[in-house]
Amino acid sequence: MNDPQAFQLAQLPAIDRLLNSPAAEVMVTEYGRDEVKRVARLCLTLLREAIRREEVVDPGVDAICRGIRCAIEADAGRAMRRVINLSGTLLHTNLGRALLPQSAIDAVVQAMRANTSLEYDLASGGRGERDAYIEDLLCRLTGAQAATVVNNNAAAVMLVLNTLALGREVPVSRGELVEIGGSFRIPDIIERSGCRLIEVGATNRTHRHDYAAAIGTQTALILKVHQSNYIIQGFTATVDERELAQLCGESGIPFVVDLGSGALLDLEDYGLPHEPTPMEALARGADLVTFSGDKMLGGPQAGIVVGRRELVEKLNANPMKRALRCDKMTIAALSALLRMYQHPQQIAEKLPLLRMMKRSYADILALAQPLAARLAQQMEGLATVSLVDCDSEIGSGALPDRHLPSCAIALRPLASGLTHDESLERLAGAFRELPVPVIGRIHRGEFLLDCRCLEDADEFSAQLTRLDFGA
Ligand SMILES: *Cc1c(COP(=O)(O)O)cnc(C)c1O
Repeated sequence: MNDPQAFQLAQLPAIDRLLNSPAAEVMVTEYGRDEVKRVARLCLTLLREAIRREEVVDPGVDAICRGIRCAIEADAGRAMRRVINLSGTLLHTNLGRALLPQSAIDAVVQAMRANTSLEYDLASGGRGERDAYIEDLLCRLTGAQAATVVNNNAAAVMLVLNTLALGREVPVSRGELVEIGGSFRIPDIIERSGCRLIEVGATNRTHRHDYAAAIGTQTALILKVHQSNYIIQGFTATVDERELAQLCGESGIPFVVDLGSGALLDLEDYGLPHEPTPMEALARGADLVTFSGDKMLGGPQAGIVVGRRELVEKLNANPMKRALRCDKMTIAALSALLRMYQHPQQIAEKLPLLRMMKRSYADILALAQPLAARLAQQMEGLATVSLVDCDSEIGSGALPDRHLPSCAIALRPLASGLTHDESLERLAGAFRELPVPVIGRIHRGEFLLDCRCLEDADEFSAQLTRLDFGA
């Protein structure tokens, strides 16, 4: 090491002098002594390394304290944050899927703030059932005999399989061996639930006789899985739910349908494409139906099972149910949400998911126009800004082949020192760095902001001055 480096290293303050400085004391009050000390050590290490690399550093206590504050604030920024979803995917799993209606939000706040009658029967003053009210609501809405809820639909499928098919065989069509995101694959879920998967038919065609041949003494139930996020087209054949229900009835085994994103309304009544409902599956003879709370239902993350009473009783008696049960916030949100479904005339306005799905192209265009003009002004010389037609998708595996015509603000970076792809990434990054990060998508050389899901245009517009995209 040369002398100037040794001199600079000696200039760095000792940790105690740093922590006793007025600037550090303010931070200690704000963030706690241990946290400030941890980050201070880290900063000093980085400074020593920088000096050894012969970089110029400011060894002053105030400068180091500013660095410590930045590091602590950056760490807080890693927590889950609110973002504006202009990705064009309404139910974006990475962005938290469905937005809750106000009544559900209020119910969750209440449940967090105060004690509740979660498992307390106010009439008798004794123990009550956590799921009882939700079960009543679900039975009223779907016509099912019984219902239960767990943390998500993956858990619902596992609970059903583990309860009714442990150590036994479950035939599933090869065309329905779905993967939803990385960690939910039907074959793995069946195995981890303690069951043996029996693959039936071919990827594109499965017939009734394929199922019939697979049923033996070890068969516990037949599982039909809704092909949520993909479509098989061309030379195809699937077996109707009615036929499968009949086959199961003849064999004395339950027929289970995993709908994934079950809707509780006929979306066609709202001018939207049809999505299978649990009511339809039950009417066609399903003994149990599972679906998500935060997909087409538009509620909190939850897994719902509806169907025959004696089967639901078995689910509730499985110790796994205790491990997978919903917490009070989910119970509060789901109860409020299901109450809204009792009043379908109002739900289109009150449920954010339906409101966004129903939004017309003309409304979206009207919203996007002034924002595009504003952005064009700000981006002059850096990027061109235009309005383009695009397709929003529902996401989370719902209606993968149906798109909703929408309008996006399209930004195309002008030539700079970077490649076009690098400029696009920088642009997308600049929007993610806004005080409320904005998530768009890159498509065919442009950065698109699909305005279908934009609810607060003023907030979006107000923070644009903070956009840091110097090309
Ligand atoms: C989405 C989906 C699941 C998983 O549901 P989560 O609520 O995300 O756990 C299971 N099965 C099907 C068919 C799905 O579409």
